[in-house]
Amino acid sequence: MIRHLVRSCARWALDFALPPRCAGCGTIVGEVHSFCPDCWKQIEFLGDGGCSVCRVPLHGTEERICAVCLARPPRISRTRAAVAYDDVSRSLAIRLKYGRKVAIARTMARYMAPLVNASGDALLVPVPLHRTRLWQRGFNQSALVARELSRRLRIGADPRALKRIKRTPPLKGMRPRQRRKTVAGAFRVRDKAAIAGKTVILIDDVLTTGSTAEACARTLKRAGAARVELVSWARVVKPSQLMR
Ligand SMILES: [Zn+2]
Ligand SMILES: [Zn+2]
Repeated sequence: MIRHLVRSCARWALDFALPPRCAGCGTIVGEVHSFCPDCWKQIEFLGDGGCSVCRVPLHGTEERICAVCLARPPRISRTRAAVAYDDVSRSLAIRLKYGRKVAIARTMARYMAPLVNASGDALLVPVPLHRTRLWQRGFNQSALVARELSRRLRIGADPRALKRIKRTPPLKGMRPRQRRKTVAGAFRVRDKAAIAGKTVILIDDVLTTGSTAEACARTLKRAGAARVELVSWARVVKPSQLMR
């Protein structure tokens, strides 16, 4: 325990003593929590355009909401991601997940913050891990990002608001229906009073199919949340996967 503490203090001191490094490749850069020109060129920042609900591109139209969202409004009223999922954004997500790198969480929060709709009744809630996964890893990477966003935007974060009560296998390769079935009933709201009437902003590291976030949203809305939004670091943006 003490050795661990000394080691993390040493790492913390090093982070401050050394020149800032590119979050993507480690090259020395001029500014903390930023990227070198090569990584910058590679990263696709997704911005805030497209469908105002799901952000699917709406090139060449004047519509603000895509046909899919109009026909069947999703439970998540606004989905945003800072960057497209690629080698650079994946490397950050992996280092955060397995390294508890607060510096990485800060970098992610820097680019995610402009996408957060920070209103008075907003509450940041990280997508939770199941407790066995939490024990293995020791922390929830999305909770680290939510904490940094909360500091940056001065809005509340509640990493305990949602609980994952079912351990689910990876959803990769499953059909949409199977995915929905797998994550159904996987979450529970710990204290309904804490989220009642609030705009809950789910925080996630990587958004792939959205089934997990949808299951979270269903649970939150049933428990009384007024609105659910989602902001993630990276998003897999294959058009086929954006379409439901
Ligand atoms: Zn770089
Ligand atoms: Zn849409």
